[in-house]
Amino acid sequence: MLSFKFLNASISKKVSSLFVLLLSFLLVVIIYSIYKLNMIDNEMKEVAYVDIPLSQIMNEIEMLQLEQHILLEKFRLKEQAKESKPPKNKQFAYQKQQLRLLLDKAVKVIADSLSSHEIRYDLKSHQQIMLDIETYHQKSNVFEQQLLAMISTTHISDEKQRQLELMASELEASVSVILRRIETLTLEAGRYTEKHEQEFKLVNIALGFSALILGLILTTYIIRIFDYRIVRIKQQIRAFESSFRDDNSGLEVGGAVRSSQDELVELEQDLKLMMRRLTKEIINREQVEQQLLVLATQDKLTGAYNRYKWDEQLTIHLDLARRGSKFSLLLLDIDHFKGINDQHGHQVGDQILQHLVATFKARLRSVDLLFRVGGEEFAILLPMQGVAAASQVAEQLRRIVEQLTKSDLPTYTISVGVTEFCDDDSEESMFKRADQALYLAKSGGRNRVQSA
Ligand code: GH3
Ligand code: MG
Ligand code: MG
Repeated sequence: MLSFKFLNASISKKVSSLFVLLLSFLLVVIIYSIYKLNMIDNEMKEVAYVDIPLSQIMNEIEMLQLEQHILLEKFRLKEQAKESKPPKNKQFAYQKQQLRLLLDKAVKVIADSLSSHEIRYDLKSHQQIMLDIETYHQKSNVFEQQLLAMISTTHISDEKQRQLELMASELEASVSVILRRIETLTLEAGRYTEKHEQEFKLVNIALGFSALILGLILTTYIIRIFDYRIVRIKQQIRAFESSFRDDNSGLEVGGAVRSSQDELVELEQDLKLMMRRLTKEIINREQVEQQLLVLATQDKLTGAYNRYKWDEQLTIHLDLARRGSKFSLLLLDIDHFKGINDQHGHQVGDQILQHLVATFKARLRSVDLLFRVGGEEFAILLPMQGVAAASQVAEQLRRIVEQLTKSDLPTYTISVGVTEFCDDDSEESMFKRADQALYLAKSGGRNRVQSA
């Protein structure tokens, strides 16, 4: 459903939604990177603020422990030599104090870091180290008191000496345990940070590649959408182009030589060419329509209106006349035209017909309508004219024809029947009346005008 909606969305919507997708992905990558970097930064701080100082303290403790060990050995040797001189108890007390100070320093580093939340790795182990140091202090105090008490006496029993040595080795062992623990912790914390760094690198590389591939796929998809649409539009333009009849206009659509590499510019050029072609085609069609109209309404030989137009116009003028707009009708026929044809040839007969129409058109008003209603029969529709005025026009035409002198054409005459619109007239009744008038003009001797 969702994919269907996406496929039908506009291109700008598709492109923007794909970019939103890509940007969201990049945002996730950025947020993840910030989170991870922050975490690694904190771990580095833990190493810098807690683990490094702790390691340094531990080194010092180890050195001090070594010195204590030597001192204790010396004490033991002197005891064996039964020297009456007391050992260097002051030096021992000083070293004890140093060791205490260092251990306290370690406890303080851990405690401060715990309270300021610098320690993130293995809180419990750190707390355990603090407890261990505290226990060591207690044991160490007891040992110190007993040792000092012993030093002040001249003779120490073997039993007491063994006890003291046992306590000394216990203390040494507990310091070693503390040292090992701290060492393990600092090492593990370092490894832990290193592992996170490694993880961060890998995940970031993977996400970066995914973003790159996603970007490539989206870009390819967008390009393909555009390509597909452009190809389809071009096909439609070509189909449209081929639907026109071929002419030598030189307008090439689709196959034209390109000056640009840009598909949209090419498409624009194609559309422009198509528009020019279309405009030309529309103009052509308008001209053809005009020609068809002329052919449909005009007589080919003379240029006068034909019978089709006659029927149409007679009906229109009858309708108008019924609403009060009068008109008259002239029916003209060339006298003895058959004889002219026979005597001078059909071609001369045609020329007479053409010449006659030209003569009538020159004389008539622009509102008057001239029709060829038969071989050598013509009708003239005179709008807004009564029978008297129409008869005058008919007489003038008859006289003009009678007086026509054209060197290459024989002289001839016409007979005219005239009538005007009467109430209740139909096409047939009005034409019949004009025809009867024409008949009377013919039977009356020809070359005359007869009204009815
Ligand atoms: P009337 O005085 O009684 O009208 O005699 P008419 O000879 O003119 O009449 P008719 O009807 O007997 O002859 C008409 C002639 O017109 C017959 C035909 O050959 C000729 N005609 C009809 N149409 C054309 C045409 O287009 N061109 C030519 N040259 N002659 C035509
Ligand atoms: Mg006739
Ligand atoms: Mg005739």
